[in-house]
Amino acid sequence: MRTTGGDEKPMMMKSYNVIIIGAGPAGLTAAIYAQRGGLNTLVLEKLAPGGQTLITERIENYPGFPEGVSGPQLSNLMQKQAKNLGMKYEQQEAKEIRLSGDKKIVTTDSGKEYNALGVIIATGGEPKRLGVEGEREFTGRGVSYCATCDAPFFKDEEILVVGGGDTAVEEALYLTKFAKKIHVVHRKGMLRAQKILQERLLSNPKAEIIWKSKVTKIYGEGKVEGILLKELERGKLRSLACSGVFIFIGLKPNTGFLGDLVELDKNGFVKTNPDMQTSVQGIFACGDVRGGSFKQIIAACGEGALAAHAIGRHLMRLQGTE
Ligand code: NAP
Repeated sequence: MRTTGGDEKPMMMKSYNVIIIGAGPAGLTAAIYAQRGGLNTLVLEKLAPGGQTLITERIENYPGFPEGVSGPQLSNLMQKQAKNLGMKYEQQEAKEIRLSGDKKIVTTDSGKEYNALGVIIATGGEPKRLGVEGEREFTGRGVSYCATCDAPFFKDEEILVVGGGDTAVEEALYLTKFAKKIHVVHRKGMLRAQKILQERLLSNPKAEIIWKSKVTKIYGEGKVEGILLKELERGKLRSLACSGVFIFIGLKPNTGFLGDLVELDKNGFVKTNPDMQTSVQGIFACGDVRGGSFKQIIAACGEGALAAHAIGRHLMRLQGTE
């Protein structure tokens, strides 16, 4: 029990069996499994449920949707299912996890504290930044990390996409529905994206790939007007006019709030064993935030289910009922 500053009224800390941090596909699936396993579950999410799925225009590789499904639609369905099963949900950002015996205490950005015997970290990641001149200055004024959110602003314009992975190619394809021309800048001579996506991009008349090159500067007056491009083999610099720069160069895991509580791998992702157990008993991790995860929605869901199952067993062990 805690007391508030000037107010002498005691503030009760709410207790749950499980606290899940993050409401993307991994977190929501963990919530579905935990609730169905009879565990009283709280999900904390700093933004809206869905995670990266929310900024994905079309998903074609999640089973059960033969025509594909939009990211927001799939997230809504997952959230609805978890809520129907009794998941408690709070829009709050987890700022810290502390250990108190077997309990884990989670503090949020509003200063609230919750405790549980098990915690699942499902905080996913956020888009990596390029780190070039002009990127920060023009974010929201031509520089974007979300095609679904910003594509309509670039109708019939010439834009640039940076990256060669699944996200860059999928989002570039989506952008071709709006823009007049898309230049995809990739630092290598071949794309990393799935074959089917590569073929679609290569055969799209609106798309052109600029190989073995990197963006070194984004410039403009108040908004993006162009970029400086370096050809990596010859070292030649040239300027390319465009009104939008969409950057899709991978994910940075959301682990800042963990401090040094759990072990991370060399890239900053949370290390777990095959049961999704981190280096701390009772703290599990699943989905994109986990080192070695497949970074696919279906895989994140599978890991969420595994983490919820493992947490159920952890609680049984604590109660001596396993
Ligand atoms: P990713 O697979 O890590 O690809 C990042 C791309 O950005 C790579 O092509 C990389 O180049 C390039 N890159 C990285 N840092 C760069 C820099 N500083 N400057 C220029 N280019 C840079 O990231 P992602 O595409 O966001 O995908 C993340 C994960 O989600 C992947 O596992 C992916 O398969 C998955 N995903 C799947 C789907 C789907 O199944 N439909 C959709 C989206 C994402 P190099 O190739 O040279 O390293």
